[in-house]
Amino acid sequence: MNIVLIGAPASGKGTQSKRLSQEFNLLHISTGELLRQKIKQNDNLSKQLNGYVQKGKLVPDNLIVGLLKDYLEQNNKFDGILFDGFPRTQNQAIELDKLVKIDHCIEIDVSLGCVLDRVSNRFSCKNCGKAYIMSQHKSKICSVCNQQLVQRADDTEQTAKVRYADYLQVKDNIIAHYKNKKVHHYINGEQSADKVFDQICKIIK
Ligand code: AMP
Repeated sequence: MNIVLIGAPASGKGTQSKRLSQEFNLLHISTGELLRQKIKQNDNLSKQLNGYVQKGKLVPDNLIVGLLKDYLEQNNKFDGILFDGFPRTQNQAIELDKLVKIDHCIEIDVSLGCVLDRVSNRFSCKNCGKAYIMSQHKSKICSVCNQQLVQRADDTEQTAKVRYADYLQVKDNIIAHYKNKKVHHYINGEQSADKVFDQICKIIK
């Protein structure tokens, strides 16, 4: 079973992906995470990629599709894949169809107000990566490994607005792509994470 999760930044794709990949034994591929790992290598390509990511702009399709193909070639022992943050353009959706058959496209819908609120509040441990909502956690120290919590460099209000606007521009085309294949499902992403998770489970079970 292959699933695509689409949604604005901070719509909850990452949180849901982690839970779903465990529940259904899927390979979780976050193209944002692939990029952040690649950028750490600090070679010429990484510097080029970092320029887009820092500004909240989409990385060109040929570069991100190349990274994804490489990753899939190295990780080919799995029952299904959960794509988190890919496709982000109609062209990426077309390229993805050449690689795997998508069984479900789950759209997690959130408003700009919700995105800005979440982005200003989301932190993660710089050591183990555990995610925190600052308004709930109240401390900048990880409760698992006692390390410092940090914000992503692209989690600023300005960058979030750019990323949200870019998402709105392309989402209708991506949704139309999956509606044509009769695999699109809508979820209100402003509900609690548990409710969103339950609704996704009902769809894919
Ligand atoms: P994310 O972690 O999904 O919020 O992605 C972080 C950043 O990585 C985005 O703002 C883009 O700059 C870049 N990115 C992630 N996935 C893609 C994609 N499928 N196509 C182009 N750029 C991407």
